[in-house]
Order: sequence, then structure tokens, then C-alpha cells
Amino acid sequence: MHERYSRQIRFTKIGSAGQGMIRRKHVLLIGAGALGTSCAEMLVRAGIGKLTIIDRDYVEWSNLQRQQLYTETDAEDQLPKAVAAKARLSDLNREVKIDARIEETNTMTIEEQIQDADLIIDATDNFETRMLINDAAQKWKIPWIYGACTGSHGLTYTILPGDTPCLACLLGKIPSGSETCDTVGIISPAVQMVTAYQVAESFKILVEDFQAIRKQVIYFDLWNNQHTSLKVDNLKNPQCDSCCPEAAFPYLNHESSTKTAVLCGRDTVQIRPMPGMAIDMDALKQKLSQLTSNIRSNDYLLQVEIDDTRMVVFKDNRVLIHGTKDINKAKTLYNRYITG
Ligand SMILES: [Zn+2]
Repeated sequence: MHERYSRQIRFTKIGSAGQGMIRRKHVLLIGAGALGTSCAEMLVRAGIGKLTIIDRDYVEWSNLQRQQLYTETDAEDQLPKAVAAKARLSDLNREVKIDARIEETNTMTIEEQIQDADLIIDATDNFETRMLINDAAQKWKIPWIYGACTGSHGLTYTILPGDTPCLACLLGKIPSGSETCDTVGIISPAVQMVTAYQVAESFKILVEDFQAIRKQVIYFDLWNNQHTSLKVDNLKNPQCDSCCPEAAFPYLNHESSTKTAVLCGRDTVQIRPMPGMAIDMDALKQKLSQLTSNIRSNDYLLQVEIDDTRMVVFKDNRVLIHGTKDINKAKTLYNRYITG
């Protein structure tokens, strides 16, 4: 076995056999923000076999304070996070196969995304996607690790289908809320604490040491010096529609995640393309350049600043309208400048 993993192999709970298992496993990371970049770096350095990263966004200056894989150049170039993360991770460990995708996780994409994954790590920022992950993980019997943080506090929990209560069983019983790092801010130690738990739990799952799994919800607040483990075994709901034997997986059939939406906690509306619609990026760039010179583009997206708004069009035809939470206003701008 390689010298590079010698200290991890010397740790007896992993050992040579465990390292071999880590090397053969595939982890799916949903989200490449603060939690995602931290988990990705640890997993890639640890020598997992394959890492798939799904992210729909691009690097902005406000990400650099805590999203550890990204550089000032990535923000200047507005690189999609999936692309920037892959470039950095490949520099860290060329032995790991990295599949980075500029995609959303929604009802239409998730079941394809999770195929072949041995483990799913939640690095998203919203409950809609988490409930979708929860249902898909239950349906396909893949362990997943929930993680969340805002301000100075964080929360994490490991879900083993067929064993632990699922997120739907717990919802309403665990601290949650509508706070996001865009509304209440965040300090990076809160991120690192959540991902330390997420990756430690990942290693246990990858080396199949299921006895060692922490079957408790962890909640901490680093500023207010709180650290709590909540026992949740007794919260498994035998009628839970996401994890009981006759589960209907309601969130996989939920329609809202395929429509226009205000992005969680942000002054941004995302408009998804209508089925069958295709935006010709070159033609759009040419059309817009007759209206303004405030256009920038790279291989993955096109940005235009016009009417006090900034719009970003991705190659998959999703459009982000920044500077508004008003869906009708966003749709008017979209119809005027993007599809009009
Ligand atoms: Zn459940």
C-alpha cells in the first residue's frame, strides 16, 4: 500500500483492509459549497475510489471565506463550482476518479445521480433537496449523512436505510429553521466541525464498521459553547411514508422542485427551462451584445447585467436572475431578454 496513506492505515480501525475498501468505494457529494468542498478535500486525500460531485452554481467572491477549494481566480472567472472543485481535487490526488457535474439535484435527476453510489453526503443548503435525498436513499438503500450549518452552529446525522430513523421520521423533532448562511452569516469553524463528523462517519461506512456509527443527532454551537447529542432511536415512525416497508417516497414525486424558485435565502430566482426548450448560447450572446456591453461568458455560462439586474444563463439552460426575490419580475426579465 502507498506511503501516502500510511498514517491512515496505521490507524487500526482502518488498517490495510479498510484502506482497500475505501479505495474501492464511490461517494456521491450533493453540493459543492462550504460543506461540500471540505468533505471533498478530506475524502480525496483519504484515497477514495471515486467521488461524484453535483453542483448547480458558480464561484462568487462571497464563497471564498469558507469554501476551501476555490481561489480568487475561480471567482473572477465565475467558474462553475463543479469545474473548479474538480481541477483542485485532481491536483490533490490524481488516483481518485472525480466526476463533477454542473447539474441540479431534483426529482428528475436524483435517481440517476445516486446509481452506483456507496454513500451519499448531503452538502446542500435546503430541506427540499434533503427530503429528496432522504427518499431516494431509502428507495435505493444507500446510507446518507445529513449536515447543516449556519452562524456558529451545526447539525449532523447519519441515516442507514432499514436501520435508523430517516430524516422524515425526525423532521419536526430536530432543530431546524429558515435561517441560511445568506441571511444570518456563517463562520468557517462551524463548517469544519460538521464536516469532521460527516467524514468520520463516511470512513466508518466505507470500511463497513457499522457498529461504530453514531446513531445520534449532533447539535453544537461553537460561539455559545453548546454541544449536544440527541438520542433518536425511538423516533423511527413505523408508518413513515419515506422509510416504512410500503413507503411511497412522496418527495420523489413532488413537483415543486422542477419549477421556478427563489433560491433559499438569496435574492436570486432560478428559472428552469421548459421541457424541449433550448437556448442557443451564441445567438443569445449576440442578441444581448446589441443591447449592452456588460456581458461576460466562459465555456459554461453567460452573464449579462442589464436593467439593474444580473442574469446568468447556464449551458443546461437554467437561468439565475440575481437581485430579486420577485418571481413575476424575474419572469418578465427572462421573457424580455433571454427568450424574447
Ligand atoms: Zn422515516
